[in-house]
This record gives sequence, structure tokens and C-alpha cells, in this order.
Amino acid sequence: MSNQSLFERAQRVIPGGVNSPVRAFRAVGGTPRFITRGDGAYIYDAEGQRYIDYIGSWGPMILGHGHPAVLEAVISAAREGFSYGAPTEREIELAEEIIKLVPSIEQVRLVSSGTEATMSAIRLARGATGRSKFIKFEGCYHGHTDALLVKAGSGLATFGHPTSAGVPEEVAQHTLVLEYNNLQQLEEAFQLHGKELACVIIEPIAGNMNFVRAALPFVKRLRELCTEYGALLVFDEVMTGFRVGLHSAQGHYATLLPGFKPDVSVFGKVIGGGMPLAAFGASREIMKHLAPLGGVYQAGTLSGNPVATACGLATLREIQKPGFFEALATKTQFLVNGLKQVATENGVPFSVDSQGGMFGFFLMDELPQNYQTVMTTDKERFNKFFHGMLDAGVYLAPALYEAGFVSAAHSQADLEATLAAARTALR
Ligand code: PMP
Repeated sequence: MSNQSLFERAQRVIPGGVNSPVRAFRAVGGTPRFITRGDGAYIYDAEGQRYIDYIGSWGPMILGHGHPAVLEAVISAAREGFSYGAPTEREIELAEEIIKLVPSIEQVRLVSSGTEATMSAIRLARGATGRSKFIKFEGCYHGHTDALLVKAGSGLATFGHPTSAGVPEEVAQHTLVLEYNNLQQLEEAFQLHGKELACVIIEPIAGNMNFVRAALPFVKRLRELCTEYGALLVFDEVMTGFRVGLHSAQGHYATLLPGFKPDVSVFGKVIGGGMPLAAFGASREIMKHLAPLGGVYQAGTLSGNPVATACGLATLREIQKPGFFEALATKTQFLVNGLKQVATENGVPFSVDSQGGMFGFFLMDELPQNYQTVMTTDKERFNKFFHGMLDAGVYLAPALYEAGFVSAAHSQADLEATLAAARTALR
């Protein structure tokens, strides 16, 4: 069956033919590939074309597709039952595993999507502090909760406006949107509103504007200001969690800023290994505000689902094997350095960055520090590169503001084939 005929059929019954907008290839043009199966580092489309997969379901597939130990765990859990709506031991095991690897967390609540987790984390921060306002940064995506679908207002004293139809202005009125990595704006915002802030939510390495790191002085000052004003620092590690390193982005920042910890952390993607699973966690002191202990309500029919937790646990166990992240980071660095070299050979402006198994590349000479700069990318050129790579069997994110992901299943031959494809595409 052709991708085109599936796309036409899909558009009759599903808005835009997809169940999540970026899949529709709107930004890059062309026909989305309908995937029939995944195997290791590869995905296959309805026309039988094989692609080296650098999306990995947008992050979760850190072991590649169909890892034997994970597959076994999922099948065996499914045999025991799909869902009970009652507690299971596996939920405790997964919570214990997350807490063991993330020292800032003493308790964790499991949910089914990153959106739910960030939404609940904001509610928890508001409930725990008794405050309403919060800061988010331009270019960071935290899921599609109303109060998080907000763009910057016209000044620091004004709050944001909805970026989506269907979100009332009143819902956006407590969301203050600042420029990522802009220390001066941060200082001013805290001076003006610090005492009213429930929290600041940030992607510590922003993967929703390709790959932009929060600068060290920025993170340091953000931590200080939150502590000084009694606002909670929420690290949205849905993408970076157990992806950029075994101890996530916060572990990376703690090696650079000894003692560094966020107050609340949000995870998704890798902790579910490809199944619908996400989580948010914090100290016991903060988590005690959550129902049934406290007054902040949060719940879910499928939360801590037995098949999803089996998948997540098996995944977390694999990534803890000695040398796992070293090998993954080496592969990722080989890929991005190779891309950079190929671009340089062809006189194409190019900059790259990576951490663990997450990477970004920009068709510009220097790594951008914020969303506005990311958006100055030559889109035409990016789209040509994307399609050149796709035609050569390399599946990159179909938008220039998305990060890329390498899995443990990518072989040296896969990476070299990718660079060969890039040599042609960039030419
Ligand atoms: N936070 C971040 C940092 C994300 O990257 C995403 C999804 N890409 C989300 C939250 C929302 O997660 P989900 O799509 O599972 O709702």
C-alpha cells in the first residue's frame, strides 16, 4: 500500500490524517510515511522502505525497536492482564528505580503522558505554595495543557496570550513567558513578580527548539532566585530524562554546579520505553500535598498501567548496564561530528551539539541560545536536507525545531550510512 493512499484515507477520518500535528510533515512538505514496523535502529513504511530512525518515537526508544528483554517483559506482563485499576508491585519497583537514579526525588506519581505530568506538576506547585503565577520560557514545550500553551506578553509586567485557539485569555493570565537564557529578563521578572510565583518550569536542555542548553550561569541564578523567592523550580525532563545521561539533565547540571537540584521533576518518554507512561516527583514534603494525602487532586484510570510499567522497568534496567551511556554518547558524538565535517566540506554553515543520546544540528555557524535565533534557520535549506536524507533512507525529525535521538541499536555502519547520505544531501 502506498503512503499517499494511506494519507488520503487517514485524512478522511482523522483531522490532518495524524494523531499529533508534527507527524503530518506540514513544516517540510511531502507525504508522511506510514510506519508498519520497527526493528532495532530501523523503521519500515507501508511501501517497504527502510529508514534509519533518528526520531525513536520522539525519544522513548533509547534501546531501539523491539529490544528482546523489553519485548519479553511486555508480553509476559500482557499475559497477566492489561489493566486493573488497583495498585501493583511493579509500580513500586518503577518508582524505586526512578528515585534511586534521581536524588532530588523522594516520591513519584505515575501518569500516562508528559502533558499530564507537567500539568499535574504545575498544579502541585500551585497547591504547595498557595500561589497562582508561574514562569515558562519561549521555545520550551511542556505538553498541551491550556496554561502552558502560551506565548509571551508584550512586556514583563504583562502576562501571556494563548498560542492555541480554545484557550481563554483568562487561563493564560498567570503564565509569564520569558526568553530562554536571558538572565536580565529573569532578574526583572523575579523583582516584579517573585513573591507571586508558584514555580518556574524549564526544559533544562530544550529539545523542542531543536537542542538548546540552558547556560550554566542561567541555571545557577534560576536556582538561587527560586529559593530566595520561595518559587519551586520544575525541571521538565520528559525528553532529557534518562536520555542525556543516567541521572538525566539534572545529574549533568549537578556535576557542573555541585549540590544542584530542582524541586520538582517531570519524566516521560524513556521511562515508558515506548508505552504511555510519564511521572512527576519531588521531595516527600512537596508530594504530601497530592491526593489522597493532600488537597491537590490528581488521578488516572490507566496511571501506572501494568504493561507500561513492565516496559519502562525493563528499559530502565537495560540503560543501567555498565558503559551504556558512554557507548551511546560516543555514537551520538560520532554522528554529529561527522555531520559537521560533511557540512564544512560542502561549505554549508552548520553547528552541532549533543548530550548522551540526544542531539541537535543547526544550519548556522553558531549554536543558538534562544528560540528567536533558532527560528532564523534557513527553512528552505533545512527542508531540502530533510527530504534528501529521507529519500536516502534516513528518518530525521520533520521540523527544524526538533531534537534528534540515537539509540543503542544504531550500529557504526548505520552512522556511516547516515553520513554518506548527508554528504549527498548537503551537496
Ligand atoms: N515536555 C516535554 C519537554 C516534551 O518534549 C513533551 C513531548 N514532546 C511533553 C512535555 C509532552 O509529553 P506528551 O507528548 O507525552 O504529552
